[in-house]
Amino acid sequence: MATAMLETLKRIVQETRASTDLDAALNQAVRRIKAATKADVCSIYLTDFARRVHVLRATDGLNPSAVGRTELPLNRGLVGVVLEKVEPLNIDDAPLHPRYQFVSETDETLYHGFLGVPIIHNRKPLGVLVVRHIEPASFEEGDVTFLFTIATQLAAVISTLSSGETFSDETPETETNARFVQGRPGSRGVAMGEIVVVYPAADLEAIPDRPAENPELEQDSFLTAVNAVKEDLKQLEHRMEAHLPTEDRALFQAWILMLESDTLIDGTIRRIGEGNWAPGALRETIGEHAKVFDQMEDEYLRERASDVRDLGRRILTYLQRDQARMMNYPDHCVLVGEEISGIQLAEVPQAKLAGVVSATGSQSSHVAILARAMGVPAVMGAAGLSALKLEGKPAIVDGYRGRIYIAPHPKVWEEYSRLREEDRLLCEQLQQQRDLASETPDGIRIPLYLNTGLMISEMAPVGLEEAAGVGLFRTEMPFMVRDSFPSEAVQTLSYRRILQSFVPRPVTLRTLDIGGDKPLPYFPVKESNPFLGWRGIRISLDHPEIFLTQIRAMLRAAIGLDNLRILLPMISSTTELDEALRLIDRAIDELKEEEHLINRPEIGVMIEVPAAVYQVTEIARRVDFLSVGTNDLTQYLLAVDRNNAHVADLYNEFHPAVLRALVQVMEGAAVYSREVGVCGEMAGNPAATPLLIGMGVQHLSMNASSLLPVKAVVRTCTRGQARSLLKSALQKEDAESIRELTFSELEKMNLGGLVRPGK
Ligand code: PEP
Ligand code: MG
Repeated sequence: MATAMLETLKRIVQETRASTDLDAALNQAVRRIKAATKADVCSIYLTDFARRVHVLRATDGLNPSAVGRTELPLNRGLVGVVLEKVEPLNIDDAPLHPRYQFVSETDETLYHGFLGVPIIHNRKPLGVLVVRHIEPASFEEGDVTFLFTIATQLAAVISTLSSGETFSDETPETETNARFVQGRPGSRGVAMGEIVVVYPAADLEAIPDRPAENPELEQDSFLTAVNAVKEDLKQLEHRMEAHLPTEDRALFQAWILMLESDTLIDGTIRRIGEGNWAPGALRETIGEHAKVFDQMEDEYLRERASDVRDLGRRILTYLQRDQARMMNYPDHCVLVGEEISGIQLAEVPQAKLAGVVSATGSQSSHVAILARAMGVPAVMGAAGLSALKLEGKPAIVDGYRGRIYIAPHPKVWEEYSRLREEDRLLCEQLQQQRDLASETPDGIRIPLYLNTGLMISEMAPVGLEEAAGVGLFRTEMPFMVRDSFPSEAVQTLSYRRILQSFVPRPVTLRTLDIGGDKPLPYFPVKESNPFLGWRGIRISLDHPEIFLTQIRAMLRAAIGLDNLRILLPMISSTTELDEALRLIDRAIDELKEEEHLINRPEIGVMIEVPAAVYQVTEIARRVDFLSVGTNDLTQYLLAVDRNNAHVADLYNEFHPAVLRALVQVMEGAAVYSREVGVCGEMAGNPAATPLLIGMGVQHLSMNASSLLPVKAVVRTCTRGQARSLLKSALQKEDAESIRELTFSELEKMNLGGLVRPGK
């Protein structure tokens, strides 16, 4: 594509993405595309599959009064052909085409040349983008590729903006039309409550509208924030005095003038007065202001739009400091956001957190793991959720099927209340499992351990009482909630607390596993491919000072308790393992020299990288136990980023390759009679329990909320049953067949309710 075309394409995409309103975005797009292709008409049709029609949603060239009114039957007309064939149609004389359909209200007959391309998002057709000529001539090849490319980009914008539109107040929910946004199950259960939108800090475009509870206070806090930014700019200018010539420093004056401009100040104050909270009012003002610059032909002036946005972000940063203090969460809070972090989850008082919905991520993202640990229903990867318009709306989170219903019809509400009641009953039944041994009917003990560590508050009593110990303590959280690396003394205290709570039961502390999707705010690692990058043991070995401090703290915490086990994450070679073991020995020697009474703890390795599966015997020889991290192992075996909603359907721990890898781990560890446990999410999935027992896995480690459901399966399934189920599963060729097989086995055991919702 020619450079000029590429520039135009980028601009169109940028403009439409900046829009928060579908019609505005489409109108803008048709105007620009018509000009770029020198067409006489550009139109966008969106398809309504429920009503089986293509609706004219925007046009530049056809009769504007036809917008929203002209509807073409699904399989008729040239638009129908494009969508049916899902490929471009480029013809010189449309009325001569056998499928041509005459539409009176748009002055159709005038136009002969026709080019239509399908708009498709995530395999789903959304509509058709059309350009037309009066002349009977087809479009050039360059126009076809231009339109084709722009349609792929427009698809994402349409998908996002139309979900917000679907749930706007003007579209009342009907009983037969129970609308929901489809994501993927993140944490089982049903939540019903009120939406609170979370957004990344200082991301102006992600700020939702929210009613201003006290407009005067909001206006004050806005003006204070503006003044603070002005002071910052003055100081910056002062600092630059020595380095910048006077004419360049004039830029600072220009920014200060922008800050003081009526458009910015009065516009925001007025919007707050009209009822929006300060961050929302600021977003609107900055958006409007930046758009004026965006639309300028002069490139220099266009660039000023980014200055306006930058000023907006600076004001927002100050505002957010105030807002965090003012935040009032509703009683049944459904957190909705583009990408919710563990910290944002932790900010909501636990008693008020009803459900979580993230537009990105998948069931193996850490935020989903956290939600399961807290027993909070969650939906992940609900792409196309336009969070901006959802604040304060009632919602149902269906964590079984991965759906969120926004402002649903009372009938839907009623139906889900019933499902929630069934859940409660199942929970009550499971309580009967408490205090019973985790043992198969033929007497094989499978100790169930607890996964914990992301948050102190997740230590529900059931976890403390029921678990045979801690199988995985993720040490990242104490590191994440601070401004700098915690000292040896601070770490010692925090590890001692957990070791003490479980003594004499074993507690497995995993060394720091940052990187991937768990960054530390004070140790930024910017990588294009973080899951294949600098994470886990790799960081620890490159920073022995961090690793040694942590190991020393673990060892010191265990003095006199002796229930510590140390687990090493992300090991991918024996070299790494040998180095880590050497450092552990060094820490032990040091502490002994300092006259601490240290006993060497058991040391284990996480098998979560495929390389470790193939070297499991060599690894087993060097350590005391192995723990399989099925979350990462699945991600790396299947080459599916565990956080990427686009490929979440491909992420499946029942994939035959995962099962075969697990069997191989068991065989390799058996050579040195080493104990093998599983600590990935698969260990807490009751559907997987029979398969893992069949393999001979010696212990399972999971979130507190999975302990009783998994115990119910252990106590029902004999080793013999488990083995024969595993044998059949290993003969299957795809994940879905294996999942079906295990589900039906549970149903035969009368335990189907553990994996299927009651409807
Ligand atoms: C795993 O990868 O399976 C695991 C337990 O570790 P994490 O989820 O913390 O990466
Ligand atoms: Mg892992």
